[in-house]
This record gives sequence, structure tokens and C-alpha cells, in this order.
Amino acid sequence: MPDVSPRPPLTLRMRAEDNVAIVANDGGLAAGTVLPEGVPGAGLALLDKVPQGHKVALRDIAEGEAVLRYGVPIGYALKSISAGSWVHERLLQMPSARALEGLPIATVKPPAAEPLEGFTFEGYRNKDGSVGTRNILAITTTVQCVSGVVAQAVARIKAELLPQFPSVDDVIGLEHSYGCGVAIDAPDAIIPIRTLKNIALNPNFGGEVMVVSLGCEKLQPARLLPPGSFPITDERDPASGPETICLQDDSHVGFMSMLDDILNSARPHLERLNARKRETVPASELVVGVQCGGSDAFSGVTANPAVGFCADLLVRAGATIMFSENTEVRDAVEQLTSRAATPEVADAIIRELGWYDRYLDRGRVDRSANTTPGNKAGGLSNIAEKAMGSIIKSGSSAISHVLSPGEKLRRDQRGLVYAATPASDFICGTLQLAAGMNLHIFTTGRGTPYGLAECPVVKVATRTDLARRWHDLMDINAGRIADGEATIEETGWEMFRLLLDVASGRKKTWAEHWKLHNSLVLFNPAPVT
Ligand code: CA
Repeated sequence: MPDVSPRPPLTLRMRAEDNVAIVANDGGLAAGTVLPEGVPGAGLALLDKVPQGHKVALRDIAEGEAVLRYGVPIGYALKSISAGSWVHERLLQMPSARALEGLPIATVKPPAAEPLEGFTFEGYRNKDGSVGTRNILAITTTVQCVSGVVAQAVARIKAELLPQFPSVDDVIGLEHSYGCGVAIDAPDAIIPIRTLKNIALNPNFGGEVMVVSLGCEKLQPARLLPPGSFPITDERDPASGPETICLQDDSHVGFMSMLDDILNSARPHLERLNARKRETVPASELVVGVQCGGSDAFSGVTANPAVGFCADLLVRAGATIMFSENTEVRDAVEQLTSRAATPEVADAIIRELGWYDRYLDRGRVDRSANTTPGNKAGGLSNIAEKAMGSIIKSGSSAISHVLSPGEKLRRDQRGLVYAATPASDFICGTLQLAAGMNLHIFTTGRGTPYGLAECPVVKVATRTDLARRWHDLMDINAGRIADGEATIEETGWEMFRLLLDVASGRKKTWAEHWKLHNSLVLFNPAPVT
């Protein structure tokens, strides 16, 4: 073994009231190690060897007493635990699984945080008041059948038209698998349909709606975008519905006529987008979606807490921050309902998670409520602790609104929002785009090259090792928190400032730099035919 000088012992505590902290050091800490000044538990001698990512008791914990991490009970001591002991899962009585009845409703009243004023970014103000962080022409499609044609048209627009419109960042086709072969009248079909509609209205697209349709599909343009239900930017009668290029139209003779038609339609949209200029807007116009994927034991220790700190900054700045991922928050539902700003918000959380329970039940699966052996080896004692590691992305503010899948935020819905979505990275990102996201934060431990064409994605590594190996894919290294080189607060502020730079177009994310774009993936709980 090469002799590398070990880092000083480092423990990480999530909240001041926690009676356990996490050992950050590679290889853990040996019994007898004395925790140094400046870290939680300073002066304490470890009674056991404590592996990396695992918990050490910071004070004596009596039998039956709550073990507090993230400021909440993650279990109850099965016997008395002395300060300095390794608090492993065999010492803990798991909190009982929560049904959706009898939950604490809006019981936690987070103190009103001091407003954060004076932070701005350079964005594209839209007619409806929303603000884009990018200036993109997005071509909406009603059905998968047209995707190949739209892809060819987009390639030609980029080659022939885009160089004439330097203020337009990109042209994209909103390709998806929906539109035909689906039970479009099933009650749950409202979810994919409103998702597609609301993505067309994402603030990064400047209100310029242009649709390519096949003609015979179930999802007709007027069903996707009913006349009068969305703003029209050109001179047409609002009652006429969306501007549509229909491939089956009799006027199309040959493939080239379809492409020419799409190019001709794109030109005025590009002209209007190109005339827009970035202007200084308050940070309150950010609509940030957060999620995690490829998580590891450090997700809940480094990256997610830093996102949570940043989330609190965003709320203090009057911005909107959305967190999601039903299956990852389900086992900490009482943390959500208790942090709801009002009983109505708590009821909406219960309604959404109850709907999702029944959705999973229809597929005869459960939500795999048990942690994996890998989770336990990494220090996560049980699902309550794992869920808290995910929920911590939401920070400490009250939850002010809840969105059903595919719904769009109203302009007056600010602050911390729970957007109820599956945890699948692509489905979650797609639904957050529909909600009106103009910036995306994504934390990862194992590593993923995830990116979206529609919106910048800021990726946060949970470990320095990943940030080092994926140095041109990760935008922020939250692993420095575990290295003792940065605090959660410093990393949260770094993230907040980076968000303003990326929103302003002053910086590009690595996913933008390399044009790493994942597909839109619709959440369609309705049958296909
Ligand atoms: Ca995810």
C-alpha cells in the first residue's frame, strides 16, 4: 500500500440538533480516533471503527430515544448508545411506515427568512411576464410519425436560416412517442397531452408556437393547443388555433415541399425571436427544477444538502424551486405534509402521492420500500434516512404549491413547489419542463451525462473522485464538502451564483457545451392501443 498521508478526521452533521454525524474519511475512522477541533463531536474518542458514510453518536442516546439526522428521527435506539459509538442499522428501530392518513398537516412553520435582494440575471422577458434563460425556436409535434421529417427540417433550418439570426440560441424539434396508438379519451391521457402543450409554452421558447402535424393522428393540433388557450405572437386570429404545417395536406407534393413549408413557417418565428434582447431581471424570475440520478451514499451528505441551501437562497430571492420524484419522497411524506404552508397544500401532497400509490398498485409493484444492501453498506440505515437524503434538496422552506404531472406553474405560484413526478430522470425532467422550468439542477454520485436541449442543466457531483474523472461533464464539485475544503453553505452560494451566470448566458453548462441532449420522455399512465 502506498503511504498517503491521511486527511484529518472529518465528521459531517446535517443540522445542529442532530445527535449523530457522518464520517467522511476514505476508509472510515479507527476506534480510538479523537475528533479534532472544528468538526462536529470535537474531542470525542470513537468507541468503534466507523466506516465511511456511516453514523457516529455525538452524545449518549438513551434506549428508545430518537436518533436525529436532518433534524428528524431516522429511527429509535433499541438500546442505549454511548457517545462515540458506531450507530449502525442494527441499533435502530425503523420508524413505522407512514400511511397517508393521520399525517401532521402544516405543523412546521419555518420562520420567514430574510429576503435576499439585489440579485439579478440577464434574461429574455416574454409577453406573459415569464423569463427565458435561452432563446430557442421549438417546433411542437403532435405525433411521432412526423419526427423524421422534423429532424430533417431542423437540420436545414440550422444550416440555412440560423446563421442569419445570431440572437437565436438553437432550433429544436420537440419529438416524443405520443399522438397515435394511444387511448386518447382515457382519463389519465390528460397527463401526456397537457405535458406536450405546456412544454410548447416553456419560457425558453419565447411564446413562438409552431406545430408540425401528420393529419390523421388522434392528437389533433386543436386538441393539443385549443384555440384561445395560449398566446399567439403573429397576426392570426387567436380563434384559429396553433400555426400548423400538416404533412398530409394536399398542397404537399413530394418530401421537399414539406421541408420548404416548415422552413418558410420557421422564418418569421426566427425573426421575432432574433429581435429579442436580454434584459436585467430579478433573480425571482428563475424557475429551477431539481432532481437527482445515479445517487450514492454521499448524495444526501454533500450535493443534495448544498442544493437545499441553494433552494433556500432561491426562495429568499423570490424565485421558484421545484422538487419532485414521488418514489423518493414517499417514505418521508410526513416531512412534506408537516412543511406544507397550508392544509390545502398538505392535502394536495397526500392526493398526489395517494394517486401514485394506486398507479404503482395497478402495475402490481410496490415502491420497493427497502434500502438496498449497497445503501446499507454506504451508511443508509433505512428508507426514512434515504428519503431524507433526497428531500433535503428542497431546503427548509415551507412548501407553497403542488403540481400534478404535466401541469404548468402559474405566474403567482412562487417559492418551494412540489411537482409530483416519477423519479425517472427523463420523465421527471420532461414534466419539470412542462411546469415552466427555465434552469435545471441535477445531482449525481455514480455519474450521468444527462442533459436537455430545452433548458440548461447544471450537474453537481457528490464526490471529488467523480468530479475529477468527469471534469468536463460536472459543473460543480460538492465532494469538496466531504473533503473538508468547502462548507455546505459555500457550495450552495457557489451554485446560486453559477445559476445566475448560466441563466444570463454568461456561462454554458458542460451538457450545453457538448450538446448532450436526452429525449423528452412522456409520463403516460393511460393505455396504448
Ligand atoms: Ca431522478
